[in-house]
Amino acid sequence: MNAGRPAHPPMLQFPVIDDCLRIGGIPLTQLAARIGQTPFYAYDRHLLDERVALLRRTLPPAIDLHYAIKANPMPALVQHMAGLVDGLDIASLGELKIALDAGVEPSAISFAGPGKRPAELAAAIAAGITVNLESAHELETVARLGRQHNRRPSIAVRVNPDFELKTAGMKMGGGPKPFGVDAEQVPALLRRIGQLELDFRGFHLFAGSQNLRAEAIVETHDHIFGLALRLATDAPAPVRLLNVGGGFGIPYFPGDTPLELAPIAANLERWLPLVKERLPEARVVLELGRYLVGEAGAYVAEVVDRKVSRGHTFLIVNGGLHHHLAASGNFGQVIRKNYPVVVGNKVVGTEREVVTVVGPLCTPLDVLADRTELAKADIGDLIVVFQSGAYGLTASPMAFLGHPPCAEVLV
Ligand SMILES: *Cc1c(COP(=O)(O)O)cnc(C)c1O
Repeated sequence: MNAGRPAHPPMLQFPVIDDCLRIGGIPLTQLAARIGQTPFYAYDRHLLDERVALLRRTLPPAIDLHYAIKANPMPALVQHMAGLVDGLDIASLGELKIALDAGVEPSAISFAGPGKRPAELAAAIAAGITVNLESAHELETVARLGRQHNRRPSIAVRVNPDFELKTAGMKMGGGPKPFGVDAEQVPALLRRIGQLELDFRGFHLFAGSQNLRAEAIVETHDHIFGLALRLATDAPAPVRLLNVGGGFGIPYFPGDTPLELAPIAANLERWLPLVKERLPEARVVLELGRYLVGEAGAYVAEVVDRKVSRGHTFLIVNGGLHHHLAASGNFGQVIRKNYPVVVGNKVVGTEREVVTVVGPLCTPLDVLADRTELAKADIGDLIVVFQSGAYGLTASPMAFLGHPPCAEVLV
């Protein structure tokens, strides 16, 4: 049925033995029995290790890797990632607790995000983590809280870049944004920082997300390093932290191809000597979310009914958009496309059929796969949605329609 149309990229990260997928080395049916329920998310720790190892052997060794935990804040997974990366990036007080519980050094945690409340900032200052300032008002609040609590807050300036890139129609940054301080306002902010009792660490420049084109990331890095070196001339103290963002994407949809790391690595290699010369104390940080964890996770739901409506077959499963909003196409997609999906306990099967996989919610939005070819599935079979390790459960409206909660395991 896919004649002439692009296919999904092959999903080879989980081995298939006897036509059954294995996650964490465990056959899916056995894993489901072990968890004692469907639906669930399963994350494979070996794949997390492999992904970080791939980055370590491809990127220059001087590059630090941070995990942006909003991609997947499951505490066991964050704990595992904490042992692999050089730092964590958080975006709320809830994430701060998870990061500290994972045993990460406060100096390796940074806190970005607009609209940080005074209570959140006070907690961040007490913890001794770095606050990435998003506005002049936030700067004054942090300085006041530092005076009140007799602490010298650690801060970095998040910059809204002054460049705008259009690559493959994707706007990468610049323009009016609620995130960060406009680059042209940064020199004045830096002067103000110099008047206050603050420990200035450096800069944070984040220009976009889910990019599959290495040349776009290379171009972004060129702009980011150029801008950071210019801004650093106004810095009130040596720059020790240069967070150049992330944006590394993973393939989700038909026609998507994996991101090529080599050109990105070569370009970072080109920039590092100049950065070392001009900012000798700076650690260069890449902050990655989905690229680290997205491909290591699968969402698994069980077929509870199958029906034919006017010639079209529907598989109705016990999970849906309330657990996996992104796979339903309602989390930032403009045109709905299917995530890669298989019947996990019948990957190839004996018979194939074109079906639509829907969840139990009483809304037409609750579609996990629209008109896709799968092995012929029966009630009780397990439908697997790949590429589900990032922006899954916590990015979904779990309370919508009051269905039972989803399980999560790290295996
Ligand atoms: C969300 C976010 C990330 C992670 O983005 P991914 O697309 O998951 O890699 C990194 N940095 C900041 C500032 C973010 O807000």
